[in-house]
Amino acid sequence: MARPWLALSSSNLTPFIQVEGLHYSFGHVQALSGIDLAVERGRFVAVVGGNGSGKSTLARCLNGLLLPQKGRVTVAGFSTDDPRALPEIRRRLGLVFQNPDNQIVAPVVEDDVAFGMENLGLPYEVMRERVPWALEAVGLQGMEDRSPSTLSGGQKQRLAIAGILAMEPEGIILDEATSMIDPQGRREVLEVIQRLRHERAMTVIWITHHMEEALLADEVVVLHQGRMVARGHPAEILSSPHLSRWNLVPPPGVLLAQALRDEGLSVPPRVVTVEGLVDALCPSG
Ligand code: ADP
Ligand code: MG
Repeated sequence: MARPWLALSSSNLTPFIQVEGLHYSFGHVQALSGIDLAVERGRFVAVVGGNGSGKSTLARCLNGLLLPQKGRVTVAGFSTDDPRALPEIRRRLGLVFQNPDNQIVAPVVEDDVAFGMENLGLPYEVMRERVPWALEAVGLQGMEDRSPSTLSGGQKQRLAIAGILAMEPEGIILDEATSMIDPQGRREVLEVIQRLRHERAMTVIWITHHMEEALLADEVVVLHQGRMVARGHPAEILSSPHLSRWNLVPPPGVLLAQALRDEGLSVPPRVVTVEGLVDALCPSG
């Protein structure tokens, strides 16, 4: 007997992103080896790893720019190895690269923000609303008429993020996409992404080597030499004694906690922020 509601509920239970046994090599360089990862809709996953650990290769595999040589990647139930599904995958899962120059296509800022929406065939009225919204979200309001070539690296990165946000994807991958933005600006962009995730259940894959940014995630995934070497709660991963072996720099709170332990102070495990450290050492009331 057909029970369509069962089919419906099972598709809702399918993770938004599913990676199974993914391998990818560039010639003899094994960039990714046997990656398994499932990301539920609305989750915020930070992917961390040193230079060359495979983060960008993973990002490209997730939205079908690179196809698995072994294994499988599906997004919203669509497999990246189905060429007909690729437009659907890229509409649902936007990717922002580290280098904004490769992503800027129009000679005027507002046209650049609209470019992705035009490709989706969105009506003019929708674009007219979303362009100012997206520019404001990334802090580029007032720059509509500028030429992107006159923007700083950080402003270009903000512009690249605006273009993807304007498409209202169900998920977004930010591959070191705020690396040229100053720390305060980076926090602001991260806050906007967090807000959209809460308001719209947008799935977020935040690729970074700034460990303190990973603190905000639901879950942290560590890549090292193309393998997923750890996965867990931010406090657990960030306080791991293996960070330096994975070419990662512990966040300031972890370094300070360790220095105090070395001096003989009793600091509880899993303290990862300076605020957490103060609370642990000077409990109020
Ligand atoms: P990450 O983003 O973590 O720095 P990448 O995914 O860019 O790492 O790279 C993973 C590995 O694959 C590295 O050893 C890198 O040198 C290699 N690699 C990446 N892109 C290419 C390419 N286009 N051609 C050859 N090797 C590449
Ligand atoms: Mg990279």
